[in-house]
Amino acid sequence: MALVIRTRRVLSAIPAYVPGRSAESVAAQHGLTDVVKLASNEAPFGPLPAAHAAVADAIAGVNRYPDDTSAMLTDALAVKYAVDPAQVMLGAGSVDLCRVAFAATVDPGDEVVFAWPSFEMYPILALHADGTTVRVPLRDAVHDLDAMADAVTERTRLIFVCNPNNPTSTSVGRDELASFLDRVPDDCLVVLDEAYREFATSPSFPEALDLIAAHDNVVVLRTFSKAYGLAALRVGYAIGHPDIILELLKVAMPFRVNTLAQVAALASLDADDEMERRVGEVITERERLADALRELGLEVPRSDANFVWLGVVERAAALGELAERRGVVFRVFRDVGVRITVGTPEQNDRVVKVLQEAVSEGLV
Ligand SMILES: *Cc1c(COP(=O)(O)O)cnc(C)c1O
Repeated sequence: MALVIRTRRVLSAIPAYVPGRSAESVAAQHGLTDVVKLASNEAPFGPLPAAHAAVADAIAGVNRYPDDTSAMLTDALAVKYAVDPAQVMLGAGSVDLCRVAFAATVDPGDEVVFAWPSFEMYPILALHADGTTVRVPLRDAVHDLDAMADAVTERTRLIFVCNPNNPTSTSVGRDELASFLDRVPDDCLVVLDEAYREFATSPSFPEALDLIAAHDNVVVLRTFSKAYGLAALRVGYAIGHPDIILELLKVAMPFRVNTLAQVAALASLDADDEMERRVGEVITERERLADALRELGLEVPRSDANFVWLGVVERAAALGELAERRGVVFRVFRDVGVRITVGTPEQNDRVVKVLQEAVSEGLV
């Protein structure tokens, strides 16, 4: 059917979001039976057992709308971070909260500053809001915070700092971030997107809560999708000044966090030590994988996340195709690089094999 309705002019500029390819579609294309998806930074394990049980219990109640305020989960997060519940806001994944940040701050033509490459949703959400994007190139795969501060103008309303950065896995340290925030005007919202915070091991990784306490214009976003293994349930949260949270709530959808997500997240917080043990395993595997790739002569930036980055530029697509033929799905950023999620030890061994083959063929 031809599209006959008239849509907003900005839509013609919006690329469709391309999620990581599913294992099923790659298996069908190459006639394979055992394909592993390492393209979306998901946890290699299922939800924590307590979350699994809580969801099973709560299913009987899904004829009722969820608690709109996610009160129990909000309170549990406030306790965890020693903040006031009025500083906490839940969202349907932290992507929802990124969208809310745009909706609350960006009028058509207002500027949004973020690093590039960074999270692919930022430019798409900017287009939804008809904002003007200002992409500041990474330096050596790391946020160039000086250049980002230089890029701020009086039209800037929103700044994203993705820390650790997706897709390059690198992080900025507490001192650089603190000086950056000192340079940003107080009337400009800074979103610290910390989707991978639980995996960060750099000793200088910033304490977001301290930054929020020192700067009223900063909110931090975190999620249950990655470290807690609840990606399909869609639940993330923002922490910031109560006045900012009130503004963000004005543009949020009602009932956005469903009951199963609320109970699963709550049960997961109660099992934080089990989550940390699992995250520890991922970190151990991340270092093993990164070292094995470096031994092949590849350049692998220090990762503070659950994935590693190969900045192979024009060879990215060919590397991604080779991997798919071998039954491993990477995330390809055409002409930029390849992002590989850390999986189980067996899955990571397959990654190393693929890269061994790519190196021996002179592909990378
Ligand atoms: C995965 C990811 C998110 C969050 O995703 P949700 O599932 O919506 O919580 C947010 N930011 C970045 C940079 C991510 O990589």
